[in-house]
Amino acid sequence: MSAAIYAARAGLSPLIIAPSMGGQLQGKGVDVENYPALSNVTGPAVIALMRHQAAGFGAAFEDDWVISIDASKRPFTIKTNLTGDIETHSIIVATGAESKWLGIPGEYDLRGGGVSSCATCDGFLFAGREVLVVGGGDTAMEDALVLARTSSKVTLVHRRDSFRASKVMADRVIDHPVIDIKWNTTLEEILGKSAGAQQKQRTIHNNADEPEEEDVDLDSPTPADAGSDEVGDKVVSGAILKNVVTGETTEIKVDAVFVAIGHTPTTSFLEGIVEFDPAHPGYVKTVGTSTYTSVPGIFAAGDVADSIYRQAITSAGSGAAAALDAERWLSEEGLGNEAAELEAELMRELMDDGDTSGEGAYNAYEDAGGRRMAGVKESVGAEL
Ligand code: NAP
Repeated sequence: MSAAIYAARAGLSPLIIAPSMGGQLQGKGVDVENYPALSNVTGPAVIALMRHQAAGFGAAFEDDWVISIDASKRPFTIKTNLTGDIETHSIIVATGAESKWLGIPGEYDLRGGGVSSCATCDGFLFAGREVLVVGGGDTAMEDALVLARTSSKVTLVHRRDSFRASKVMADRVIDHPVIDIKWNTTLEEILGKSAGAQQKQRTIHNNADEPEEEDVDLDSPTPADAGSDEVGDKVVSGAILKNVVTGETTEIKVDAVFVAIGHTPTTSFLEGIVEFDPAHPGYVKTVGTSTYTSVPGIFAAGDVADSIYRQAITSAGSGAAAALDAERWLSEEGLGNEAAELEAELMRELMDDGDTSGEGAYNAYEDAGGRRMAGVKESVGAEL
């Protein structure tokens, strides 16, 4: 969405194609508390504001699904599910990454009632309470350490007898007095109970002109009921664990469960088109600190190219960077401006008349005397 705002403000007429706008923020049932200058506002309300802002600058939206991209010729062709084929000079991929889930009983039903995949986002809601984290990678370590700052007890459940995480992070977790590690253990089921009659009721408004939420009956709000819409919604009350060595099952009391078993970037439609990060399968490889991918004209922003931070604010920043990169690239190539494109085409035809080898062909970038980004445009470089 930030890429759309920046691109629209640059007069690039961006088209945003997505089945539902807003990704993880849109699906967030509790307030966004870690985005500067925003408080007491839900994820969907933030997305509604961003969309309103982008549309105000001329961005267009297509509620559709991208099936594939044909990058073999210019302009690119985007094949969509409903709209048909869309031609474009430049693409910013910002399709995000989905959290992996365990698929166990209670997990889906209790999302928004204490089951979460983002400790940084939701951990504060469980201050002074007992929480459980599943996983043995860096994300699980970070989640456990974040939660240990505010929760009274953190139970970390890992299916093996050693962590995959970096040693420094693993050591911190192992030494932490508030974190109880259950080795060789799997989470079999998440238990729930009714949130009770006196809970904080929230009404989410997607219309940016209306107040984002309205609080009713705050007699004894509990952290776990955040995000509930109805009296009687269920919240997490416990978990059933299984020791995979002995086969023994135990039930423990917890108020929240954080699933931290990795993420899957939404990039399957880019297979065979752009290069992926060999160290983090599925994540798009970008050039240096830029948002350039291995294909000139295709840029990647947010979680698709970020295996580490994955925050709304970092994604928003990289979206802005992608729009700036795209704008500069289009200018360098003399694209996106009909008059310049026509001139470039005429010059190309003129040059082709006298030289069929392709060498010395007109290049709008060279004509503009612009700067070339190292390592990005080898194919174009070969023409010069
Ligand atoms: P990850 O490294 O793939 O670890 C996932 C963990 O979840 C593993 O311990 C795995 O167990 C466990 N797991 C996977 N599926 C499971 C299942 N069905 N049931 C139970 N446990 C399951 O993922 P990540 O921790 O999200 O890290 C992803 C990448 O981001 C890594 O390269 C990591 O270093 C990086 N990262 C870096 C930072 C940082 O530098 N600050 C922070 C976060 C992440 P096994 O070990 O048995 O496979």
